[in-house]
Amino acid sequence: MTQYLPSFFSLDPNALVSFFPFVFKGKPLGKELAVCGISSRTAGSMRFRWNENNENRKIVFERAGIDFKNVVPLELIHSKNVYIIEEKKDVFQKQGDGLLTATHSLVPSVTVADCMPIYLYDTENHVKGMLHSGWKGTGICAEAVHIMCEHYNSKPENICAVIGPHIGSCCYNVDKERADYFRLEFSPAAVSESVENGKTVYYVSLLNANLFLLKQCGILPENVTYCTNCTCCSPFLGSHRRETAGLPDNMPPEERSKCFTPMAAFVI
Ligand SMILES: [Zn+2]
Repeated sequence: MTQYLPSFFSLDPNALVSFFPFVFKGKPLGKELAVCGISSRTAGSMRFRWNENNENRKIVFERAGIDFKNVVPLELIHSKNVYIIEEKKDVFQKQGDGLLTATHSLVPSVTVADCMPIYLYDTENHVKGMLHSGWKGTGICAEAVHIMCEHYNSKPENICAVIGPHIGSCCYNVDKERADYFRLEFSPAAVSESVENGKTVYYVSLLNANLFLLKQCGILPENVTYCTNCTCCSPFLGSHRRETAGLPDNMPPEERSKCFTPMAAFVI
């Protein structure tokens, strides 16, 4: 088996918003083409719902030097739905988990807090993509690459992918059913197990699952980078698992959903 070895990076814990480049043929891509970004936990909740007004979003994006009127949000539903947008209104009131655009001025954005942000860029056709990939949505990167090839005539060898901060396999223990699903669908490397207090505990690696998918799509390892910070281990990042860990079981889901810090992931 040939090795699939992308490069990796880590985030500055003190940055309000972190920026990092796409990497193409092993070299960082010029800023004028596209740049990836993510807000930190310190920046506060970047939660987005169509029927809510979160003033913090505008404040943080503008502090990061981004014109807020160009930010394209999406209400996330842990699906594999990817939208093509040429204008901001194309996704108004829509729900899904992925955005693709060839319009340079638009800033497609999702939120994450353990789920994986996946950034895509076609260096030839200048199409950028922003995806939210949690466990249920794993596979959305393959769907997005497929749409890029069909709609924009992209070629997999020209596409760069960056995997942003997400819950690492260090913290992502799951039940046997979910472990079996990942092993079967996304290769045995997506699951590890250990015996703890006499019981088998399963850990899912969303990273290995998505590297497997990107490789299957024909994305070259020299065009892939990933972030090594685990959201659950890193207090400067928002983590659904860490931040809701001590809450009472009977707390209503809507209230619970406001007790962690969704971070905005976006492509400029
Ligand atoms: Zn961890």
